[in-house]
Amino acid sequence: MQIIETFSPEETFRLGQQFGEQACPGQVCALVGDLGVGKTVLTQGIAEGLGIREPITSPTFTIVQAYEGGRLPFYHFDVYRIADVDEMEEIGYEDYFYGQGVSIIEWGNLVPEILPGHCMEIRIEKDLEQGFDYRRITISGGTEWREP
Ligand code: ADP
Ligand code: MG
Repeated sequence: MQIIETFSPEETFRLGQQFGEQACPGQVCALVGDLGVGKTVLTQGIAEGLGIREPITSPTFTIVQAYEGGRLPFYHFDVYRIADVDEMEEIGYEDYFYGQGVSIIEWGNLVPEILPGHCMEIRIEKDLEQGFDYRRITISGGTEWREP
């Protein structure tokens, strides 16, 4: 387990960027944390690190958005609004999770039953005593991720 503290959105973005640069085929990562904590900012950094040039927006109405233009395919899930895990079955999530791309699942904690054993977790938390832009980012499970 690794804890990293950031003090600005740019810093969180850069962490994501490094993650994206080091990401391996088949890597799956659940992003956990409240609304507005920085999951999408981190995801945008990951996409940048993978060499994706398209803008990354939250796939709110589609559950998953696929980006093919980078070093590896990138699958960005946001499962905040799904009512039932069956919706993941319907979109064929297994083809993404067990394929050659990198999958990032915002709110992955809402669908624990389908997360693969090799799934890592990145938890982002605020601590207002440390300032408005402070984030504590806890990385656990899955492939080891080296700090800069
Ligand atoms: P989520 O996807 O978790 O709902 P977003 O990434 O969409 O959250 O939004 C995070 C918000 O928090 C952005 O407005 C961003 O500018 C702000 N922010 C402030 N400090 C940080 C930080 N250290 N890391 C990430 N985002 C931060
Ligand atoms: Mg988001």
